[in-house]
Amino acid sequence: MSSTPKKRLLTGDTPTGKLHLGHYVGSVENRLALQDEYDCYFIIANKHAFTTRAERPDEIRQSVIDIATDYLACGIDPSKSNMFIQSEVPAIDELTFFFSMLIPFNRVMRNPTLAQEIKDKDLGDKYPFGFPLYAVGQTADILAFRPEIVPVGEDQLPHLELTREVSRKFNQVYCGVNPHAKDNENVQQGGLFPVIEPKLGRIKRLVGLGAPSDTGQLLKMSKSLNNAIFLSDDADTVQKKIMTMYTDPKRLRVTDPGETDPEKNPLWAFHEAFNPDKAWVAEHQEMYRGGKIGDVAIKKKLIEILNSILEPIRQRRKQYENRPDDVIAALKQGTANANVIAEETLALAKKAMRQDYFPRELRLK
Ligand code: ATP
Ligand code: MG
Repeated sequence: MSSTPKKRLLTGDTPTGKLHLGHYVGSVENRLALQDEYDCYFIIANKHAFTTRAERPDEIRQSVIDIATDYLACGIDPSKSNMFIQSEVPAIDELTFFFSMLIPFNRVMRNPTLAQEIKDKDLGDKYPFGFPLYAVGQTADILAFRPEIVPVGEDQLPHLELTREVSRKFNQVYCGVNPHAKDNENVQQGGLFPVIEPKLGRIKRLVGLGAPSDTGQLLKMSKSLNNAIFLSDDADTVQKKIMTMYTDPKRLRVTDPGETDPEKNPLWAFHEAFNPDKAWVAEHQEMYRGGKIGDVAIKKKLIEILNSILEPIRQRRKQYENRPDDVIAALKQGTANANVIAEETLALAKKAMRQDYFPRELRLK
């Protein structure tokens, strides 16, 4: 038996609803593929949900359970992987405070994902102070686990870049790492934090069901934008959502002859993401382009494919819905395990910062 500990993987979701197909192709597929190879930590970032839902704590609580149930329904195995609740891992908050001193305020505000969220979620200038703070918090969500890899969708890349900057800065200021050190040499040179590498999913950004925004771009599928097919949707709901979804009325999904632009037509974006029969897709795209086949036939095929992917997830979900105590037990065990690593990281960080006064222990009751 090998005694080398497994490398760690960290990723997660905000409990602002249930998991959808975008999560599946953007991140969950990679989690399932990697859960044997890595020691996995899946954060349910409930405090981040307060950035837009501070007045609706019951919804957030329900969503924590929904997302944990979705994980289990997808095949995340709690005997191998740790799913945990962010607010029960206090070391993350403590690291957030220290990290917030290492990032210029204007740098946080220039984060394009924050700007996009303010626009898409119509937050105007009324968002709370904690909204930009969540981007700093996310660097701590990640670095508390000093992970080897972080599987995410494309919208997370700016957050991950900020995380890389925090690692470099912390390592230089408190661990004596040379500012010219290569990213992959930081830990070797005595740095506490790895300069992490994002791992994008098979589909980096799945579009949602709605029509394009004013800029002509289709918005990404998102829990909060009412444009999602949820992993928990039943077969009838999937059928309704697909049959009434937006498709490009001019069939303009072709940029150059033979080239496709699924950004312009979600119907084909979904086929390209989920239809395993690539020859079928190519053949029917040709017919569609030439006006020889209508939306309905292509939609029917898509409904069939999506339901065959979702059916086993629904079946497993039903089992866990009948055993809510098992979901809570898995969350509790995962949270206890997460605290072990996060406390260790915090202790090491405080030591590096010469702020290690009194050791402490943390235990869930
Ligand atoms: P919210 O609308 O509340 O921001 P969300 O749908 O964007 O919710 P998050 O919890 O913010 O979901 O994201 C969780 C993970 O799923 C992230 O890694 C994110 O990049 C990925 N993800 C979310 N939506 C998509 C998508 N449409 N395509 C690919 N990946 C996605
Ligand atoms: Mg999001």
